[in-house]
Amino acid sequence: MALGTASTRTDRARTIRELLASGERSYSFEFAAPKTERGERTLWNAIRRIEAVGPTFVSVTYGAGGSSREGTVRATERIATDTTLTPVAHLTAVNHSVADLRNIIGQYADVGIRNMLALRGDPPGDPLGEWVRHPRGLHYAAELVRLIKESGDFCVGVAAFPEMHPRSTDWETDVRHFVAKCRAGADFAITQMFFHAEDYLRLRDRVAAAGCDTPIIPEIMPVTNVKQIERFAQLSNAAFPSGLAERIRAVQDDPAAVRSVGIEYATELCARLMAEEIPGLHFITLNHSTATLEIYENLGLHQRS
Ligand code: FAD
Repeated sequence: MALGTASTRTDRARTIRELLASGERSYSFEFAAPKTERGERTLWNAIRRIEAVGPTFVSVTYGAGGSSREGTVRATERIATDTTLTPVAHLTAVNHSVADLRNIIGQYADVGIRNMLALRGDPPGDPLGEWVRHPRGLHYAAELVRLIKESGDFCVGVAAFPEMHPRSTDWETDVRHFVAKCRAGADFAITQMFFHAEDYLRLRDRVAAAGCDTPIIPEIMPVTNVKQIERFAQLSNAAFPSGLAERIRAVQDDPAAVRSVGIEYATELCARLMAEEIPGLHFITLNHSTATLEIYENLGLHQRS
């Protein structure tokens, strides 16, 4: 059964699939689910600044539970109804029955959202803890892709991992499961953040060698303070480059210099990727838009808007 449609501007906008198929590159920004009213205000300040540069889309991560999930849905819906931006709605299978998932997909459809990112999500608290499926829920992201596709005319994205998903034992099975998600109907993918262009390029080549041409958008997150060196290691499977860590630690008492090093490194990584046939770039903002906007400007992308 196709879910209802609303006559908002997102109905008329091209989907990410259509934009990528036209050969255009996608430039997008990701925000984190707000947990407090103050956090919501910070988020909206960042969204309004990003809106001014006319990105292809923006997204808000799906929280691990309760109020943060409601914050995600509220912010994503408001992006669809109150801004000129195209939202890509994140959704995870964690602690949701299929009925819950259908309900959220319906809520998104009702405000005219057509692009979604289908994720399995991690167990709350410990990302590498035991994954427990909701008794009436889903097991893998591929099943969520199918559920969203059956629910209406959605364009669906999935996650990709340049340094392999932390739960995967070897590259062959990791790529096979990724390709299965694409065959389930995914139209595009966004990677986990990474630091070496070669890791992204190797993944892209492995996926292509497996006969899959789903566009994979690289995700970039600039390091803007020393604490993030450890946080990065916890958040992802990505090995933090020792050269970058040394450059940051050499100026660690000067926050502005740390930020400059992080922005310079991320700008160089983006420039290296843009020299290849990438479908676009996806920037993690952590709800502070200024560092990612500086990179955007360094790359000459401001002139697009
Ligand atoms: P899956 O594709 O289901 O894969 C999970 C693991 O299972 C992999 O090791 C895979 O190889 C394996 N696998 C897949 N299918 C099978 C099968 N049939 N049999 C056996 N093994 C299989 N998390 C959030 O909570 N909220 C967010 O908003 C969010 N946004 C994200 C955005 C991006 C761009 C990325 C890269 C990640 C995001 N995540 C988010 C994190 C993500 O939910 C986790 O990394 C999660 O562990 C993996 O999700 P997945 O969708 O790739 O899972």
